[in-house]
Amino acid sequence: MAIMTRRFNEYDLSDPKAAAQLVKRRAIELGADAVGIGNIARWDTAPLQMDPKQIMPECKSIIGMVFRVERGSLRGVEEGTYFSNYSAMGYGGITYLYMPMTVINLSKFIEDQGYEAIPMGHQSDWRGIDNNGYARKDYSRPVAPGRAQPDIMIHLRIAAFLCGLGEIGFSKMFLSPQFGPRCRVGIVLTDVELEPDPIYDGPQLCNRCMACVKACPGKCFPTDKTVKVTLAGHEVEWADLDMDKCDLTFRGAERADDGREDTYMDWRFPTKPGSWSPFYRKPRNLYNTGQAVCGSRGCTRACMMSLEARGVLQNTFKEKFRRRPQWSVDWSVPPEYSEGTRFRPEAGKESDTD
Ligand code: SF4
Ligand code: SF4
Repeated sequence: MAIMTRRFNEYDLSDPKAAAQLVKRRAIELGADAVGIGNIARWDTAPLQMDPKQIMPECKSIIGMVFRVERGSLRGVEEGTYFSNYSAMGYGGITYLYMPMTVINLSKFIEDQGYEAIPMGHQSDWRGIDNNGYARKDYSRPVAPGRAQPDIMIHLRIAAFLCGLGEIGFSKMFLSPQFGPRCRVGIVLTDVELEPDPIYDGPQLCNRCMACVKACPGKCFPTDKTVKVTLAGHEVEWADLDMDKCDLTFRGAERADDGREDTYMDWRFPTKPGSWSPFYRKPRNLYNTGQAVCGSRGCTRACMMSLEARGVLQNTFKEKFRRRPQWSVDWSVPPEYSEGTRFRPEAGKESDTD
């Protein structure tokens, strides 16, 4: 018996049109929910720290993939009873488990044919820029003149737009015609020349309904301050989201100005749980970044409901998402536990084992 390996150079990727079809079909087979391609020229105006050519100077194409967050993954937050699923399965799980499998396997398929491919998802923890795109001081240094300070971070929402996969909404979230904001984006950089897809020109997704703005628990969206960019010749505008505020709010926290010492979480200032968190203290992260206690109440849930109500999304459901009035926790009054809640009679014997 001979050993068995993958088959190399099985497909000829020299024709950009046929190669693009093949690669897109393979991406869907490997788990992507939608896939599109952008040619590298579309990134010509990318800032230095976000320029794919800084990673792969010979890059010719970027393959963008949409991975849906299951609507059911938001159900527990919506009902106020099961918060971890969104962070575990819909957010951290996609980012750290599911999407890497797809982008790695697609890259292996391309490398099997003799071209280089870089798999990439939301794992940008080593990036040399902050949330607002500014270089981090005393963090890393360029290795040679003309090269950017490591690590480069490719803006994934912009990549999805440049691959023709959808729009960037007022909320700054990427909106796909299949799932609206309920998705994550992964990409593969490659030196294969692939026929690009046109920039999205389907039914209008963001209609500036402002549902995201109204429902964000931290009021993180200024309505009078926007960011305008030109992407592959298209004007795109989104709200200049207050990232510091979102950073705090999405963990379920708000600033505590009442002099308390025992706070909701470690932060630069004392914090307390907001009315959108039922937790006395911020629960621990799931995977690396899963701590979305707010369950994206504004930028994802409210936006998704608005898009679903307008009938512009392809992934339709038999029942509407919001079925009961939106809950809110009143931390000024003691909790009322429902019948059936059982506390251990002896204190101090709690177990955290699954
Ligand atoms: S909620 Fe409305 S305004 Fe906000 S991103 Fe979605 S469609 Fe656009
Ligand atoms: S993640 Fe939460 S806090 Fe941040 S913008 Fe979205 S709704 Fe607001």
